[in-house]
Amino acid sequence: MPQKPQKEGKQKVCPVAARCGGCRWIHKSYQEQLEAKATFFRKLMEPYCRPEPIVAMENATHYRNKVHAVFGEDRRHGVISGIYEEKSHRIVPVDSCLIENRKADEIIVSIRGLLKSFKIRPYNEDTGFGLLRHVLVRVGHATGQIMVVLVLTSPVMPSKNNFVKALLKLHPEITTMVINVNDQDTSMVLGDKERAIYGKGYIEDELCGKKFRISPRSFYQVNSVQTEKLYGKALEYACLTGRESVLDAYCGTGTIGMIASDHAAEVIGVELNRDAVRDAVSNAKRNGISNIRFYQNDAGIFLLEMADQGAKLDVLLMDPPRSGSSEAFLNAALKIAPGRIVYISCNPETLVRDLKILTKKSYRVEKAVAVDMFPFTDSVEAVVQLSRR
Ligand code: SAH
Repeated sequence: MPQKPQKEGKQKVCPVAARCGGCRWIHKSYQEQLEAKATFFRKLMEPYCRPEPIVAMENATHYRNKVHAVFGEDRRHGVISGIYEEKSHRIVPVDSCLIENRKADEIIVSIRGLLKSFKIRPYNEDTGFGLLRHVLVRVGHATGQIMVVLVLTSPVMPSKNNFVKALLKLHPEITTMVINVNDQDTSMVLGDKERAIYGKGYIEDELCGKKFRISPRSFYQVNSVQTEKLYGKALEYACLTGRESVLDAYCGTGTIGMIASDHAAEVIGVELNRDAVRDAVSNAKRNGISNIRFYQNDAGIFLLEMADQGAKLDVLLMDPPRSGSSEAFLNAALKIAPGRIVYISCNPETLVRDLKILTKKSYRVEKAVAVDMFPFTDSVEAVVQLSRR
């Protein structure tokens, strides 16, 4: 359903916008942003079809349910937290942000305020000293559950229990806290080791009537309001009748496949990230879904195996990362030849690259739509329906 774009004036310009680079379009009104995205997508899709009207967001601010802050010191050894300046490792101090969840921002500021009295030093990239590298906060949009991940250089946190108590006193709404250990010289935020120091170590959320468990490292769409619209479009384009066998490729925690499972005979999900697959299996259980199975594998290898075994597939749902799909995956898809392919993309450039391969012989693009998942940035998310000729 096309949404009416909100009539909104220009935003007050953020003091760090020029250095941050996150909200590249902070100077445009929301209406201008929507028009720019729609025009960009329409031009890109010109060889294939005329897209439906872009799906806008009603209240286009503070939508990010996942907020990350890097911690460090200023010249006078005061603790600062914020984001890396674009293409550098200098920290731009940020207390609140136009697109981030407000509560998450408040929690990060509170953590910064507690560090001194707990004698916790932020990590210094140059000297390698210090304990706290990053804080990640994830908020369940529907449930309000909140996870705080403290990314430390060591698994040992002095006065850990008192720190937990002090933070809970300030923010009783926090439902779980996790220590993640990242002792590598890396630009990755999260390391491999983690342990819950309060609560269950994950949060739950609800999307399209299904419950989902989200671990610190699992992929979960950052804009929950628009994700429901995105998945709604994907389901609409899948045209399921209840009889189909469906593959949810690049399934993350199994969100799209589980939403499709009510309308299909069987669903298979494939995903590379082990934690996400574990979440997906538990998500299926907690929703009482029995016609879905998950596999941890590279989607290309998995689909090729399916093709070699002569498996039957009616609908392929695919939602690859920004780099797009692989040739191995696309060739395997052409070999299995499902009646319909629904391609969900967070990067229209790799989308059209992949569409070129799919439409060479066997498939035709029927419908396409852009969904505005990231207001104030230039990112465009899209859903495309292809059918076998
Ligand atoms: N459909 C999910 C996740 C989409 S993000 C959702 O909407 O929530 C893309 C996912 O692809 C991530 O979970 C990532 O871990 C996974 N991924 C990346 N490369 C992959 C590969 N080669 N094979 C399978 N999954 C992969």
